[in-house]
Amino acid sequence: MSAVPVEQLDGLHAYGESVAGCTRCRLAQGRTQVVFGAGNPHADLMFVGEAPGFHEDKQGLPFVGQAGKLLEKLLAQIGLARADVYIANVLKCRPPGNRDPQPDEIEACESHLFRQIELIEPVVVATLGNFATKLLSGRPLGITKVHGQEQETTIGGRTVQLYPLYHPAAALYTPAMLKVLESDFAKLPELLGRSLRPLAPPEPELALVAPSAPAEQLGLF
Ligand code: URA
Repeated sequence: MSAVPVEQLDGLHAYGESVAGCTRCRLAQGRTQVVFGAGNPHADLMFVGEAPGFHEDKQGLPFVGQAGKLLEKLLAQIGLARADVYIANVLKCRPPGNRDPQPDEIEACESHLFRQIELIEPVVVATLGNFATKLLSGRPLGITKVHGQEQETTIGGRTVQLYPLYHPAAALYTPAMLKVLESDFAKLPELLGRSLRPLAPPEPELALVAPSAPAEQLGLF
């Protein structure tokens, strides 16, 4: 991975600090703290969930409860750890009783997420569940229709692969959904590899390699 400009790291950290006192919506009143996000600030893969729950609100970190444990297990199955990716939510503050995010809360909070994505510059943004998927795709199609189907989208002036997934909390108690989530997850390495290594025009020396050379040698895989 290439070196990350210092201003990018500072930028994300500084932005997180500036959001810590956010009072843009009513959720500021009931929260313990803002849950900004956590993980590798220059990750190629970023996950976006719905909103902090009880444990996240207490600890100030996203996905630390049961859904988070499942997320970690799914990551491990594709050879990744939590520290390799960045995890954030649509809402940065816990809705009371874990109720659904309200449209005005999403509207008040969305620029925090957009800025995070701009600063992290991920290649793939995996949305977990309906709220993140609808917000970032800008379409009303629900997760049942679009899960596992990557779509190119522009966020903060950059093209990213948006990859909708079922929310791990929904899959916790529904074995059929868990199977789908696992098989959708299994496509992530390919998606990252493909996006990370687009086919480049051959270098002059490579162009001289005999045409019969295996595709691997030509850097095609
Ligand atoms: N569910 C979410 O959507 N986000 C969290 O951080 C935890 C559970």
